Amino acid sequence: MRIRTRQGALAAVLMLTCIAEMYWVAAHGVADYRAVGVWSIFSMGGLVLFFGLIRSGVSLRWQDPSMAFVQMLYAVACNAVAFVIAGHARGVTLPLLSVILMFGIFGMSIRQLALVAVYSVGLFTAAIAYELTYPSTDEEPVVFGAYLVMVLIVLSGSTYLTWRLTQIREHVRSQKKQLTEALEKIQQIAIRDELTSAVNRRHMQELLRVEVQRSVRIASPLLIAVLDIDHFKRINDSYGHQAGDRALQAFVEAVQAGIRGTDTLARWGGEEFLVMLTDAPMELGTVCMSRVRTQVQDLVVSYNGIDIRFTVSIGLTQYRPGESVAKTIGRADEALYAAKAQGRNQVVCL
Ligand code: GH3
Ligand code: MG
Ligand code: MG
Repeated sequence: MRIRTRQGALAAVLMLTCIAEMYWVAAHGVADYRAVGVWSIFSMGGLVLFFGLIRSGVSLRWQDPSMAFVQMLYAVACNAVAFVIAGHARGVTLPLLSVILMFGIFGMSIRQLALVAVYSVGLFTAAIAYELTYPSTDEEPVVFGAYLVMVLIVLSGSTYLTWRLTQIREHVRSQKKQLTEALEKIQQIAIRDELTSAVNRRHMQELLRVEVQRSVRIASPLLIAVLDIDHFKRINDSYGHQAGDRALQAFVEAVQAGIRGTDTLARWGGEEFLVMLTDAPMELGTVCMSRVRTQVQDLVVSYNGIDIRFTVSIGLTQYRPGESVAKTIGRADEALYAAKAQGRNQVVCL
């Protein structure tokens, strides 16, 4: 809106200068006062109308809120009329035609500008034909031929420039899109594990640091669980590493389905995972982890026609204010070892 208003204001200044210039030539008897008066009212009136429609926000409801195309058609028409009424000074209207077209370069499509070009040629041909039929000056017809050639030059040049600018704009837009996509991908790579898409260890450490502070501040229980797949080596040994990879992916999906949306699952290393449960008292954490354990137990991973099953051992603990996160994780690890030692496929809380 600010850019449109600024452009509108600039157009108004230019228009006022043109009106002043027309009155100036009229004052020297080159143009007809009355014609200049009527022309000024129409030109300025149109400009005020457009400015009002844009400023009031009415134009926002239309396809092109800047109304660049319509404004262009109107301005070229005013310019062509000026060409007729300016008498011997009519030459000054042609540079102005190129200024009008330059305004359109930014806001219009190449198709619209081509339309404006054809429309302008039509209008100026009509204006010249009118002048030749009802001459207001003693100019030679050849001069009008030269004017028409100039109009064609101005229009071809600005249409070409718009086409180039459209191409450059397209290029910049597609590069920006590629960059945004690349950045998103890099961000994903930076925070997620490639194989399972679980949060990676580095990012989890950052999340833990923040979450610990939050839990202390609002005195809300924070739980950390360490999960380790039981006898995972056997899966690799029996079915191959790829089957193991597939099992890891299926495991992550199963755990994600068992925890809450606010909990975070991270791949801590190999087939060991960490779950951070926020705002969760121990009873809730135990229920949640037991559910995860059951879901993993019921999970069947099909790989090359073979059904792979496995279980998980889980150590769960609560963060104690004042201690380091490493200490909490160490305690969860102890709980995990206890679970392993007690026969695996179970949840131990410490
Ligand atoms: P436990 O019940 O005591 O945990 O036995 P385990 O076999 O699960 O434990 P161990 O630590 O001996 O073996 C872990 C195995 O996980 C060894 C390693 O090759 C495998 N592993 C680690 N990362 C990956 C991976 O990304 N893909 C695959 N396929 N295997 C992995
Ligand atoms: Mg294991
Ligand atoms: Mg392990």
